[in-house]
Parts: sequence; C-alpha cells; structure tokens
Amino acid sequence: TRALDPAVLRRDFPILQRPVHGRRLVYLDSAATSQKPAAVIEALAAFYQRSNANVHRGIHTLAEEATAAYEGARARVAAFLGARDDEIVFTRGTTEALNLVAWGWAGHRLRPGDTILVTLMEHHSNLVPWQQVAARGGFHLRAVPLTADGRLDRDAFSRLLADHRPRVVALAHMSNVLGTINPVAELARQAREAGAVVVVDGAQSVPHLPVDVRRLGVDFLAFSAHKMLGPTGLGVLYGRRERLEEMEPLLTGGGMIRHVELQRSTWADPPHRFEAGTPPIAEAAAFACALDYLARLGMDAVAAHERDLVRYAWERLRQVKGLTLYGPEPEHRGGVISFTVAGVHPHDLAQVLDGEGVAIRAGHHCTQPLHRHLGVVATARASFYVYNDRDDVDRLVEGIERARRLLADA
Ligand code: PMP
Repeated sequence: TRALDPAVLRRDFPILQRPVHGRRLVYLDSAATSQKPAAVIEALAAFYQRSNANVHRGIHTLAEEATAAYEGARARVAAFLGARDDEIVFTRGTTEALNLVAWGWAGHRLRPGDTILVTLMEHHSNLVPWQQVAARGGFHLRAVPLTADGRLDRDAFSRLLADHRPRVVALAHMSNVLGTINPVAELARQAREAGAVVVVDGAQSVPHLPVDVRRLGVDFLAFSAHKMLGPTGLGVLYGRRERLEEMEPLLTGGGMIRHVELQRSTWADPPHRFEAGTPPIAEAAAFACALDYLARLGMDAVAAHERDLVRYAWERLRQVKGLTLYGPEPEHRGGVISFTVAGVHPHDLAQVLDGEGVAIRAGHHCTQPLHRHLGVVATARASFYVYNDRDDVDRLVEGIERARRLLADA
C-alpha cells in the first residue's frame, strides 16, 4: 500500500484552508464528524443541479437518474463492505440503524427473560436503545466489563456467554473514547456459537479500517456517512440477509409497502422495507463519492497512517507532565486518544487549544457509564483522519503545554 501524504490531501478539503484564530486549522475532532473533500461537496451540489427528482417508480429522465444514483450508492456501499446490495439499508445514521435493530429485530424476536449483552465501552447510541427495548420487553441487559487498560475482559465475556446465553451481543468495533479496537471476528464467532445475534457499532471502525462483513462474521453492522468524508443525515445498516428478512420496520408509510388495504398492509422486501418515505438521495449520491475517495487511498493505507500517527502522539503525550492517557497501548487502538491533564478541566483545555487553532473535543463523548468507570466526569479527546500529520500532533502538544502553564494549579 502507498503511504498517504496528509499535507497533499489537505488541499482537497476546502475547510482546512480556513485559518482559525489566525492559525492553520488543526482539526482533531474527526471522531465526532470528519471534514469533506471538495469532490463530495460538489457531488452533493451536482445532484441538485442536474438530477434532482424523487426515487423509485418515476418514469421521467430525472427520476430515473435519481434512482440510479441512489441505488448505485447502495451498490457502492455493498462493494465497500463485501456485502450484497440487498443487505444494505440506508438510515439517518448509526443511531437510527441501531434503534432499528433494537426495536425491529430484538423487540420482535426476543422473549421476556432473554438477555442482551453490551459492553461498558458503548456509545449511548448502542446502549440506550437496548435499555429501552429491554424495559419494554422484559429482557435483561448485561455489560461486559473492561480490563485495567481499557480492553474487553475476554474471560468475563466467555463467562457471560456461558452463564446467560444472550440472544443479542451488541458491541462497538472501536471505542470512540478509549480507541480500543475490539477483535470482532473472534468475539462474533464465540457469540454466534453461543446462539447470539451479533450487532456491531461500526461508527468508528468503518471510516478507519478495512471492514469486510463476511470476514467479520457479524449479523448487523451500523455506521454513519458523516464520519467518513460523507454528508450528514445518512447512515448504513448492513444486515445479513436472513436477519433482515426477520426484522420488522420501525417507520411505515410510502415506499416500504407491497400491498395496502384500508385495514392492513404487507411489506416490501428488504432493504426497501426499512426505508419509508423519501430517502436522503443527494446524500447517498455524495456518499458514493466519499467511498471512491477512500477506496483510492486504500483502507489499508488509511489504517496504517493512523496507526503511525497514534504511536507518535502516544509517545509525545506521555511526556507531558500531569497528563493521563486512557485506553490501551497503540498496538490495540485506532486513531482516537482521550486524556486528562492534572489541574486543567478538559473544557478549559479545549478552549485554550481552540485559541491556538486546534480543534479537539471535551466532555463525556456520549459514554457516561464508561466515564463513571474511569472515575472522571470528562476527558479531552483528539482524533485523527487522513488529513492529519505529525505537525498536527506537535501543535496539539504545544497547546496542551500552554494550557498547563496558564491553568494548572501550582
Ligand atoms: N457510536 C459511536 C462509537 C460513535 O462514535 C457515534 C458518533 N459519535 C455514534 C455511535 C453515533 O453516530 P451518529 O451520531 O452519526 O448516529
């Protein structure tokens, strides 16, 4: 694989040309949302300028072009993941995709007393829907604990599978706080052998690692376009064909039916069964362009670039006085690093860094149970993507040192 040149790639991203507080913008918040290359922004506009129409059943030229763009995007996503076209459901994002599985699959297939297994490192969007569906259906919700260095406790996982025979195992492929990359292929094999359906939150993995759904062997995989160079308002639920056949829709209405009577209706086949109403057509078209961009770089190269950057950042941050790093050593993690600095509140730290043109995130990052476990109310988080380089890490470290001088007591 060819190594990425972030300084060259940055020229593709109009927003990275704008200075912030007089400095070159160092954007270290891609785990929240990534920036978009000009090609993706232009694809969004081009759809409205040339082909805008509603999809499906249209027989005029524009409707046919819009449908081709939308269904072409579905095929593009399927190829990116090694899935079949009819296993790709477009949603509004990861959150909606996980809600669809929780309510549409688990809500209908589980029985009172059944167990759903999540992990302590889940984002709220892979926790709260399971809490809700468990409360409604009388299911038990249990969580896999973590090791001291922020990895899943594999012994506890095996024990929970054996003791509780969960019907669902829902876990993040990569933690948006700890950066931990979970060995999903192995965990999924174990979980499926124990009789569970495996639901993976891929919001932080699909944008950053080569992901092949057959190789992972999971039942469901959810992710968001906006975290991988694509537009907001669009996400993906991959579902193994048999699982999609078993799932009920969350939203009903136009576009998802086969036959409608005044008193009852039947559903279209997946994936359209789960796409009621007018979908995000322009966004899907632009997302195909984002996937082309990533495919040209090569996901192996993207992952290798971030591994290198994380190793560098880890070594530099470790040397900052009073700084605590959370999560495992670089070999087990992706391009997300969360930390605290003694005597400096993460929000104040983020503010000082913003003044230096460095964008990081501070807070609980939608993982309150994890932060409670870590014993902190908030952390600061720097996250990397294809346009970041070692200069960006140096600017981050400089900014943190400045914040320490300004704010750290004594
Ligand atoms: N899961 C993880 C691990 C995430 O990082 C995020 C985004 N912060 C989500 C789920 C939710 O994604 P979205 O807001 O796009 O639905």
